[in-house]
This record gives sequence, structure tokens and C-alpha cells, in this order.
Amino acid sequence: MKIQRIGVIGAGQMGNGIAHVCALAGYDVVLTDVEKARADKALEIIISNMQRQAGRGLIGEADLATAIGRISTAEGLKALGDVDLAIEAATEEESVKRQIFQALCPHLKADAIIATNTSSISITRLAATTDRPERFMGMHFMNPVPVMQLVELIRGIATADETFQAIRELTQRLGKTSANSEDFPAFIVNRLLLPMINEAVYTLYEGVGTVEAIDTAMRLGANHPMGPLQLADFIGLDICLSIMHVLHEGLADSKYRPCPLLVKYVEAGWLGRKTKRGFYDYRGEVPVPTR
Ligand code: NAD
Repeated sequence: MKIQRIGVIGAGQMGNGIAHVCALAGYDVVLTDVEKARADKALEIIISNMQRQAGRGLIGEADLATAIGRISTAEGLKALGDVDLAIEAATEEESVKRQIFQALCPHLKADAIIATNTSSISITRLAATTDRPERFMGMHFMNPVPVMQLVELIRGIATADETFQAIRELTQRLGKTSANSEDFPAFIVNRLLLPMINEAVYTLYEGVGTVEAIDTAMRLGANHPMGPLQLADFIGLDICLSIMHVLHEGLADSKYRPCPLLVKYVEAGWLGRKTKRGFYDYRGEVPVPTR
């Protein structure tokens, strides 16, 4: 299974990062979204991110121009007829992804592989919406894609060995390291990370420590680059809550119950950095704890 041409579906935060690393690694990329304007906007972001990398000497000027030249943008799924691999990175809603896969399959070459970047939806269930569950698997990139080293690889129940090998080789060519996860809720990284964040919110809720004390404790006491509440704000509190729901419902274990304080922040619309308020207030020059 030779992969040379890659389609990326969904030109949001993750889609643009995936297109970025694929183009830099020498693949031809078609980046698509519901509107071409969104894909074009993503290409502008990719170009400015690559220019920043070039400015830091991480990539050469010639490589930058070649990589940008390898990316084309399109609207919808018709442009994916000649790709060897389609990586789906659209909105994290099962109905959206199901619709995409059903509409995508008739356009694809018979031997094309489909990978999904879902953070939480069952790979086996998504595979079943396609005409090729043996050529379908999870390829879970981390955010921001150009910076983060890991890609979690998740096989569905029907994923063929050749599909898995092809995606593992691609991951290596992208300069990333893979970790294999079975297809269970939240896979490995989020299964470990989100309960820690949720527990940090409980620690705050129960008054064990302030926002500042909890983050300082974990940065300096456990050598984490960011405190858990700072990290929660970075991920987005709505995303944190939805992953806790996936764990709670998917594993039916009360140890994953979302902290009521996390629910309250989400209800307030205080979703972290993206809304300028979460466990910290980002509206001023420096972030100020909100509790
Ligand atoms: P995002 O909201 O930034 O981007 C989603 C994009 O998908 C949008 O541009 C939207 O227009 C597009 N889209 C929606 N419906 C579409 C359709 N029918 N066809 C084509 N495009 C469509 O979201 P994101 O943060 O980039 O997340 C994308 C995926 O990556 C999700 O499955 C998410 O769970 C996963 N993921 C996110 C992160 C993260 O930290 N943000 C990390 C790992 C994985």
C-alpha cells in the first residue's frame, strides 16, 4: 500500500496541522472543508506557521516553498478521488463523521485507506459506516500537530494488518512516534490525562488548594510543563467535560464522574483560553486565577 497523495477532511485546528506535517514530509495534500474559503484560510495559517519554523531555522526556505506547493485546497469530498489516504479531522460529532464517511466512500479509489483523528468516538463503530472497515483505523494526532511527537494508532475490530503497517510507516515518515491503543473510550492519552485534570478540578472544588497552588504543585512537584488547570484551559473546558462524559458513559464507572465545578464553568461559557476565561482570566496582560 503506497501512500503518496493524502486528503485531509476538515481544515480546523487539527486538519491544518495534519496537512502541514504531511506536506513537509513530502506528501501531496488536498485539504478540504465544507466551504473552500475555510480550507483557504487554513492554508494561510499553515503558511504563516511554516514561515515561523523557517524563521527559527527548523526548515529551509526551499523546503518551505516546496511544502506549500504540495498543498491544494478544495470544497467537499469530490476532490478526494485520487488520494491514497483520507484523514478525517472534522468536528467531533458522530453524526457529522458518519455523514462524511458515507458521502466519501463512493468518491474514493477502491484501495484507499481512511483514517480518523477522532479523540473519543469508537473506531469500530465509525468503520462500520464505510464500505471498507478493513482499510479504516484511528490516527490520533496531538495538538499542536507540528510540535507534538506522538500519534496514537487505534485499530478497529476489522482493521487489516496491511492498513496498520501502512499507517505506522506513514507516522514514522512524518517524524512522529506512535503508541498503539486498543479501541476503548478516550484511548490512552486522554484516558490518563482527563481524569487527572478532573481530579485537579475536584481538588479546587473541595478547597484543598487554590488554582495557583494546584498548578504550582504539579509543575514543580511532578515536573509537568503546565499545571493541570492551565492545561484544561488550553484544551478547552467543554472538550474536557465531553471526554469525561465519554469515559463515564463508555466505561460505566463512577470514578470518571465529571466534577460539578467543571460543569459549572462550561455552563457559564468560561471555556478557557478560547473564550478568554476559564480557571484563569486571560483578558489582561497576565492570566489571573478566577478562584
Ligand atoms: P475544529 O472545530 O477546529 O475544526 C473542525 C473543522 O471541520 C471545521 O473547519 C469545520 O468546518 C470542518 N467540518 C465540519 N463538518 C465538515 C464536513 N462535513 N466536511 C468537511 N469539513 C467539515 O476542530 P479540531 O479541534 O480541529 O478537531 C477536529 C478533530 O480532531 C475532532 O475529531 C477532534 O476530536 C480531534 N482532535 C482534536 C484535538 C484538539 O486538541 N483540538 C486533539 C486531537 C484530536
